[in-house]
Amino acid sequence: MNQIISSETSTALSADTVLVRKYLDRAVRPAVLDEETQKTYKTNITQLMQQKNARLVAHYYTDAVLQDLAEESGGFVGDSLEMARFGRDCDADILIVAGVKFMGESAKILSPEKTVLMPTLEATCSLDIACPIDKFSAFCDQHSERTVVVYANTSAAVKARADWVVTSSIALDVVEHLMEQGKKVLWAPDKHLGSYIQKTTGADMLLWDAACIVHEEFKARGLADMRKLYPDAAILAHPESPSAVLEMADVVGSTTQIINAAKHSEKSEIIVATDQGIFHRLQQVAPEKKFIIAPTAGVEASCRSCAQCPWMGMNSLESLYSCVQETSNEVCVDSALAAQAMIPLQRMLDFAVNNQLKVRGKA
Ligand code: SF4
Repeated sequence: MNQIISSETSTALSADTVLVRKYLDRAVRPAVLDEETQKTYKTNITQLMQQKNARLVAHYYTDAVLQDLAEESGGFVGDSLEMARFGRDCDADILIVAGVKFMGESAKILSPEKTVLMPTLEATCSLDIACPIDKFSAFCDQHSERTVVVYANTSAAVKARADWVVTSSIALDVVEHLMEQGKKVLWAPDKHLGSYIQKTTGADMLLWDAACIVHEEFKARGLADMRKLYPDAAILAHPESPSAVLEMADVVGSTTQIINAAKHSEKSEIIVATDQGIFHRLQQVAPEKKFIIAPTAGVEASCRSCAQCPWMGMNSLESLYSCVQETSNEVCVDSALAAQAMIPLQRMLDFAVNNQLKVRGKA
């Protein structure tokens, strides 16, 4: 059974779509800086981070200049959970998370003793916005016979309400494990990822109705046209993309899995259906290959993101400089809530260790 939520809740979620648009209106892209200015910012930020024993952790979808700065200054670039785990294991007093809100919260949950800052606290995620705790909690109560599995792209409060938190790379294994135990799953929030897991595992899943505004824009019809132009190209897609796109992909996987697949692919041309920010890392790991972004425009287009997350794009050198200089934009998670959210997070980490799986997530 693959069930989309009841019409009553669906009506409520339409309001959340309006809310997503409101957040989108506030997501202003920073000005592009010239090279000299970038260099000055990078030098000053690095000095400040050294003085304050701070470390920068950046997501693959952030601007290339932030990814480079994170690596050059002893920080880290990765997916959301890798970022949180690096933050937990490093000896910094301050973590600066260049990403979106739920990543800052995950970092704080895993590192409660550290100060966690973000260049902007306005950067959020359509999945997080469209899964408010009050509606989600009521939905869980209505289906109390189901095991609640939520994606990492959720608020601390939603995580705290869940039995499991998963990333895209471990979700299939966890759901299979639950299925073997005869459990039915309530999945939230990404309906495309949920549908992909349901189809792959055959599990009994009830899906929350939300989507990533970046991946939902990829178009199967445009991809079919693109494939005619590049008949020998491999297609790599993130499972937050619509099912018609996933059906055309050679590899479906998380950001880290896409990077690995691109590196090891025998193809010299690769079409990629995920946020364009990942191209920076793809070109580093396979400089000889040609990477092409999957189409978001064309027939049926309503491009709200054009394969670039507007919230990830809010992270800039200027906002990073202000936050590290002023030690501002601190991420706070209520300690009781953090302790509760840690339970399903830890369950996933233990599952990965026990099953010798690598836990790698995504935006
Ligand atoms: S790319 Fe999609 S899933 Fe990732 S932060 Fe942006 S809106 Fe959320």
